Amino acid sequence: MNRVLNFSAGPSAIDLSVLKRAKDDFLDYNGLGFNIMEVSHRGKVYDQIHNEAIGKIRKLYNLDDDYAVLFVQGGGHMQFAQVPMNLYNGGVAEYVNTGVWATKAIKEAKILGINHKIIASSEDTKFDHIPEINFSSTADYCYICSNNTIYGTQYKTYPDTKGSPLVIDASSDLLSREIDFKANDIGLLWGGAQKNAGPAGVTLVIVRKDLLDRVKDNVPTILRYKTQADANSLANTPPTFGIYMLGLVLDWIIQNGELNGISEKNQQKAELIYGFLDSCDFYTTHAQTNSRSLMNVVFKCPNENLDKEFVAQAEKNNMIGLKGHRNLGGLRASIYNAVSLESVKILVDFMSEFAKKNG
Ligand SMILES: *Cc1c(COP(=O)(O)O)cnc(C)c1O
Repeated sequence: MNRVLNFSAGPSAIDLSVLKRAKDDFLDYNGLGFNIMEVSHRGKVYDQIHNEAIGKIRKLYNLDDDYAVLFVQGGGHMQFAQVPMNLYNGGVAEYVNTGVWATKAIKEAKILGINHKIIASSEDTKFDHIPEINFSSTADYCYICSNNTIYGTQYKTYPDTKGSPLVIDASSDLLSREIDFKANDIGLLWGGAQKNAGPAGVTLVIVRKDLLDRVKDNVPTILRYKTQADANSLANTPPTFGIYMLGLVLDWIIQNGELNGISEKNQQKAELIYGFLDSCDFYTTHAQTNSRSLMNVVFKCPNENLDKEFVAQAEKNNMIGLKGHRNLGGLRASIYNAVSLESVKILVDFMSEFAKKNG
């Protein structure tokens, strides 16, 4: 077996121990003679997996009964629409534009015809930082994207909403650090599993229950958060295998010191790679220093040909996923939870060698 070092932006690396557990269960789950994907989502066996995954998320994020934990489908793109459909309350929704994903969310608000305002943006400097933000206390909700996967920027702390509900697209830093939901006035936090929490197909939504009743009569049943909250996310067939895989990833996070342990490791990895980039004048980085993402490290070589050569040489050395996003070009190393410190060390050694040879 030759496992590559995987720096893909999403879908992305899953720890080998998680894949091995899934492999062991694949033909015969717990000696029951079936794969979990072959049985009813209303049966006892699946029910346990479903509720344990919800329980682990509650424990890791320290959520009290004011919050509902939901599994939905449709990915991030559906959340761009589902958020305004459910949380707009006839006032103003405030958005911060920090890149492609926030722009797409704003586009859906426009399509739905809700009154919305872009109150801060970093577009004029190619989204290289998190801008100054001044939310108002009377917003229906305040929308941010906590980690900007394409540009490699991330909120170090969440902005003050003065009590308005904060809505967070946490697709690419889900379960990567501890979050105090109450202190940050979080009304809703969502993220697709495919970056930090398992395979594509499941979207985790954590929503404050008092917001569930805002939904208007013209919103289709399956697009209401309330429908899934009332049905414990079993209003229709959930992506059972994806939720099972998410459960295995949650176990792995718990074994690795919960979110505190995971976040310490993420900081070490980021310090290693940014430390190297700062010490080497061959590469340049995209994000401003105080907005740097711990998840996606965006950098480039002195010219595009060298970027291409870097990707090709990296692949020869067993490292994949390092090509930058098509919007920005250059290179990107995604160092999500499941990318080990050892893998980052090997990448940094490769980067150093490459710079020496081509500098
Ligand atoms: C990947 C990503 C999305 C899009 O998710 P889909 O599940 O592909 O719709 C949205 N927001 C952020 C921050 C992302 O990284």
